[in-house]
Amino acid sequence: MYHSDPPLRLKPNDLEAIEACPASAGPGSKLSPAALDRWKAVRYGLEEALANGGDVDAAVDANAGWLDPIQRELVAELVSNGVILLGTSDAEVRFDPDVDVVVVDYPGRNVEFASYVQLDVTDPHDAGKLERFKIKTGTQGTSSAEAAILLSGSNPGVGFADLMLRDGTIEPIELTANERDKQLDRLCAIAGWERDLKDRRPGWQCYRCDRVARCGQYPPPVGCKVGTRQRTIRVSKSDVVRLDACHRRIAWKVLHVIPTDTGDEVGPAAAVGLLFHEAIANILVAEDREAAFAAELDRVSRDDRDVLEMLFERHKQIEADHVPLQYKLTEYPVGATFILPGLDADRDGNVSDGAAVAVTAIARTDAVGRELDDTPAVIEHRTGKTSDRIDERETALYAVSVARLLGAEAVAVHQHSLGGDGDPECIRILYDEDALTEAEQLLASVLEPIATWHPLDATDPAYTVGEWCTGCPYQERCERFRS
Ligand code: SF4
Ligand code: SF4
Ligand SMILES: [Zn+2]
Repeated sequence: MYHSDPPLRLKPNDLEAIEACPASAGPGSKLSPAALDRWKAVRYGLEEALANGGDVDAAVDANAGWLDPIQRELVAELVSNGVILLGTSDAEVRFDPDVDVVVVDYPGRNVEFASYVQLDVTDPHDAGKLERFKIKTGTQGTSSAEAAILLSGSNPGVGFADLMLRDGTIEPIELTANERDKQLDRLCAIAGWERDLKDRRPGWQCYRCDRVARCGQYPPPVGCKVGTRQRTIRVSKSDVVRLDACHRRIAWKVLHVIPTDTGDEVGPAAAVGLLFHEAIANILVAEDREAAFAAELDRVSRDDRDVLEMLFERHKQIEADHVPLQYKLTEYPVGATFILPGLDADRDGNVSDGAAVAVTAIARTDAVGRELDDTPAVIEHRTGKTSDRIDERETALYAVSVARLLGAEAVAVHQHSLGGDGDPECIRILYDEDALTEAEQLLASVLEPIATWHPLDATDPAYTVGEWCTGCPYQERCERFRS
């Protein structure tokens, strides 16, 4: 069969995003370009540093001079690691190889799967030996789907590896023949799906998706639409609550994508909380709750079992003297987009004010459902101390998000306090029309500063030192850049 058009090139990341949520296939809006900008600066900086005899400072000045000192330091760290990895052998390193893409045809359709490489390394003592690298500036290496394309689309003698610049390691890309076939079958299956932009499947993938402000899961106010070129900033519920402590911490995370000093870790107390949240999520929507509970107990260690049993008992106690609730979905993300006046930057880095910035706040509910009279309800389980009360901004976000999503005039938010020494209790807050309007205003005022954060400059948002710094993942880098 002949096709007059070149085959449509599909990238595994896009296909995997569609697999997680078909609605992610549509056009998104303009999220922060920081990670990509730095990746490019690193890639070109590394090429120059290898060519100029290892002068990292000169290479970074030439290729990342326009970045602020914080991001420049990040670029310099990665370029130095790259020079150590590649510059110390007599191998020949070639950036921009003539063929920088490996493709695998999708049988029966005019489509191909593609994966890109950034540099080729040849061994001067063995002309036939070729190793092809992907440059990685984060902690994630090449996915199995991508590996399947690289290894199936090349000659058997060609080797592939990830240049992991953050860790300063080279990780070979490997996959068994069997696993390659499985991955390619999977990609073929997704490529054959009908595109259905209404088929939203919200979850952790929303934190990687550029459609947050446009897909409808986290709606803007009635009558507003977010355009494809509109600057968009995505925050989580905990970011919203932390805004009153220090802006720099949130801006570094959501806007400038600055890597943490060590990587986030979950402490033991939070771990039991997470375990319970996961267990109760499965139990609440099960037909036979006792059986579901027994199954959950089987999955956990003996020590955790006692805690789970205690929390579940206390949960039942709350439900016994409580308005009946029908649980519909658990661990369900809701959220809302606010259109706020702020700054924007064009492709050349020119910053202007007077932009309408979309700020999308996402909150993962423990459960959503309906009260007896059909009022939509959000249920939050608290497993910490009873003094650890729900925050007004959190409840406002739940209420506004669900009201917008369902077009509801009232939303009930339940906080179920299960931990602590006192009796378990439910605090129910009903958001009627007036309360929803107030909640909208509260959130808009809390989120407003975000829209005015400089889009490109990581030194811009003010830092505020306080007791909260103890839990901040940026302490070391932050201290180095305090003025
Ligand atoms: S934001 Fe979430 S629900 Fe919306 S399209 Fe993206 S992944 Fe799907
Ligand atoms: S260490 Fe403190 S001041 Fe610095 S970013 Fe973190 S919270 Fe803000
Ligand atoms: Zn309740």
